[in-house]
Amino acid sequence: SQASRVTHETSPSKDDVPVHGLSEVIVGVLGGGQLGRMLCQAASQMAIKVMVLDPLENCPASALSYHHMVGSFDDSATVREFAKRCDVLTVEIEHVDVATMEMLEQQGVDCQPKASTIRIIQDKYLQKVHFCRHAIPLPEFMQIDDLEGAKRAGELFGYPLMIKSKRLAYDGRGNAVAHNEEELSSAVAALGGFDRGLYVEKWAPFVKELAVIVARGRDNSILCYPVVETIHKENICHIVRAPANVSWDIRKHATDVAYKAVSSLEGAGVFAVELFLTGDGQILLNEVAPRPHNSGHHTIESCYTSQFEQHLRAVVGLPLGEPSMKTPAAVMYNILGEDEGEPGFILAHQLIRRVLSIPGATGEPERLKSILKEEGSDCKAAVTPRVGIIMGSDSDLPVMKDAARI
Ligand code: ATP
Ligand code: MG
Ligand code: MG
Repeated sequence: SQASRVTHETSPSKDDVPVHGLSEVIVGVLGGGQLGRMLCQAASQMAIKVMVLDPLENCPASALSYHHMVGSFDDSATVREFAKRCDVLTVEIEHVDVATMEMLEQQGVDCQPKASTIRIIQDKYLQKVHFCRHAIPLPEFMQIDDLEGAKRAGELFGYPLMIKSKRLAYDGRGNAVAHNEEELSSAVAALGGFDRGLYVEKWAPFVKELAVIVARGRDNSILCYPVVETIHKENICHIVRAPANVSWDIRKHATDVAYKAVSSLEGAGVFAVELFLTGDGQILLNEVAPRPHNSGHHTIESCYTSQFEQHLRAVVGLPLGEPSMKTPAAVMYNILGEDEGEPGFILAHQLIRRVLSIPGATGEPERLKSILKEEGSDCKAAVTPRVGIIMGSDSDLPVMKDAARI
């Protein structure tokens, strides 16, 4: 592997050639969170070595990785040092030092997806501008620099108005809704003020949220996973139903938009495309993640090739795997871990125990204790429809019953 590492530094690899061997290849992942951990799990079955870069000594991926370099994926010197040890560099989070990735790419380091993709995606406003230029349908949007600008946007787009921070957003932290002009300043303040870099989006009157995982290989072949429905609770992904219970036409339309969006980006890997379905059958793009995504966790149990295996196949230059479902349907509940002493701790623990006692439900049982102690980490559970699963509070019941019935 020493030799192959030297090779790509001196002679940049051609994208149309599968440059990497199997057991020798070292895939470097910027970020060692839960997604990185699941990449390591897939890699172990493929004899691929995954190295992760993460500042947390006991980050979720640490124990399963071939090597964990403790350090920041947002620090140039650290990323450069890390890249030296890998054959191909990829990400499990988009908030990385992209300027350094661009520089490394110039020097011949193999980044998949390309740094240009990470640059576009890590700034949500830039992302919107990019997709708008490529004629992808999305909610109207505009940058706001001061209260006057925000008021103009409100007059133009109406209320409720979605205000978003351009960078470092996840799980809805970075979104604030103003229901009228009076709420603008408090919504802006909640996001840290105009200096954070803000923009607004017109409210998308969606009836459902859909998502499509799209994989692109190094040979530019593209495969799309079945369209799923995502149900959010307080901006956080709560339930994923696969396939989405929508008409064939809508599935086709959603897949076309997702395909077109990913075609406009560069590099190999899996991409998650989040979409809104409106009452009149329009599909609008919400955002794209250039990596595996929680809307694709179900693929581990329900598809021939999981999104994690697919990502690894894509970045090392293997043929892409079959993305279709091998079970008739699947439901994924996203259970957030809570710290001991936090209000959700007992509930999360009880929920996980209940999920795992249902035949066919899977999660990461060996991690149940530690998962609950790691702030922000989440546990996934998947069930097939034949099992069916109803859980949660009374207010959740209609949706749960519905989910169990597909
Ligand atoms: P993620 O965890 O998916 O990265 P995020 O923090 O990047 O989330 P978004 O995906 O921008 O946040 O938005 C989170 C949720 O807020 C969406 O899934 C949707 O439910 C709602 N939302 C976002 N934009 C709009 C909009 N323009 N109109 C209506 N609802 C919206
Ligand atoms: Mg996001
Ligand atoms: Mg999102």
